[in-house]
Amino acid sequence: MQTDHLFPELALLRETFQQGITRDPGWRRTQLRALEAFLVEREAEIAAVLYDDLRKSSTEVFLTETGYLRGEIRFALRHLKSWMKPHRVKVPLLYQPAKAFYSAEPYGVVLVVGAWNYPLQLCLEPLISAIAAGNCAVIKPSEFAPQTSALLKKGLGHYLEPTAFCVVEGGVEEAKALLQHRFDYIFYTGSQVIGREVMSAAARHLTPLTIELGGKCPCIVDEHSDIRVAGRRIVWAKFLNAGQTCLAPDYVLVHHRREQELLESMQEALVAFYGDDPGKSPDYPRIVNEHHVRRLERLLQGSLVLSGGGSDVGDRYVAPTILTGVTHASPVMQEEIFGPLLPVIPYTELDEALATIRYRAEPLAIYLFSSERDVQQRVLRGTRSGALCINDLLVQGAVHGLPFGGIGGSGFGICHGQRGFETFSMQRSVLHRALSPDPDTRYPPYSSTKFAILKWLMNWTG
Ligand code: NAD
Repeated sequence: MQTDHLFPELALLRETFQQGITRDPGWRRTQLRALEAFLVEREAEIAAVLYDDLRKSSTEVFLTETGYLRGEIRFALRHLKSWMKPHRVKVPLLYQPAKAFYSAEPYGVVLVVGAWNYPLQLCLEPLISAIAAGNCAVIKPSEFAPQTSALLKKGLGHYLEPTAFCVVEGGVEEAKALLQHRFDYIFYTGSQVIGREVMSAAARHLTPLTIELGGKCPCIVDEHSDIRVAGRRIVWAKFLNAGQTCLAPDYVLVHHRREQELLESMQEALVAFYGDDPGKSPDYPRIVNEHHVRRLERLLQGSLVLSGGGSDVGDRYVAPTILTGVTHASPVMQEEIFGPLLPVIPYTELDEALATIRYRAEPLAIYLFSSERDVQQRVLRGTRSGALCINDLLVQGAVHGLPFGGIGGSGFGICHGQRGFETFSMQRSVLHRALSPDPDTRYPPYSSTKFAILKWLMNWTG
């Protein structure tokens, strides 16, 4: 069903795609370079809007948004030629002489729906892959990061080809209206509840899609690990963007013999990173809105606060908080925290920690601190998740060559680097046969001789 009349810009994008200009690798490169120019020339403006939306420091903006995106663009530019190369395939003797290959073809006009926590990255990362794969795109940023959304709307048109890309701002109503239209691919990042709605909207048009969700990412700290380094890295990864990171460690499972040492190491790291009053630190971000501050305040109930625990709704502030005395029935363990609260739960046997992880929906990532190869292998084999990162956190998501995506409750489909390019491409098969010879073997009327020849060819040469 064509529904472009409901949203006229879509017809323009479709026309651009039909003209075939996006198939040209040179055009794709030009758009990627233009996107990089947007990130470089508008760096100060980008830092300012992200400060307004989430009070991110400019270092954090560079590390997790602009700098990361520029790396992804350079990676795509470097590898585009090889990603676009057709793949030759051997043809069975029965169908020879012939040539066969398949190659990555763009889907057409794609929709990218971004979430608010990394409001620039979550729109532009999929866009980079969509451009590299030769698509036109509609970008729908999150309404909960309004300044970033406005900058994308206002700024991108000066850099990218306006007949091929457009930004649609708005909230639930606008998103629902957009999804009435037929897109050729949908890339959605956000919550499970809305992810289901996006899936049913996509089903109406049989549109393929990627769903990037969150979940509760566990971090195991084994008895045999460097506790000082583990403490510093966990605190950095948890409180970056005030815990509003889909890959952030949601809770820590620590071997009971190292619990006290880990808690001390994390408390030390907290003070070293954000001072005695993190509310005054220029490097500590804010919660996206008052609703989420109140939600986090509710999650604190039923746990013991070891550090932090304070909040200020008006300032959208929730202190970096370490929680103990947490059970699996505590409110903080009933949903993805998505904020700066870190429950630390001791375990005695590794199997107990693995059972805790397996009991919940598959997370986007599992983190493990352990110097024991056997423990590393048991965690790798005994759990399922989008990624496993050993002795660090989050950085697996910054490696452009590693696929990024969820499984089960954390979503499906992958992005980043070549996998992102493939996500936004369909593999088109081409078989080119010679017209002669044209033996009778496969044509009726069939005979026992023809059957025997066919059998031999298919069984022994196919
Ligand atoms: P959100 O509220 O910003 O919503 C995401 C997008 O969905 C927004 O653009 C919003 O306008 C749109 N939307 C709202 N209603 C819609 C509807 N009915 N149909 C279609 N689109 C609609 O973000 P959120 O949902 O609060 O996201 C937070 C979640 O996202 C967390 O669970 C987090 O873990 C997850 N997340 C996942 C990743 C990842 O890469 N896997 C990255 C960031 C966040």
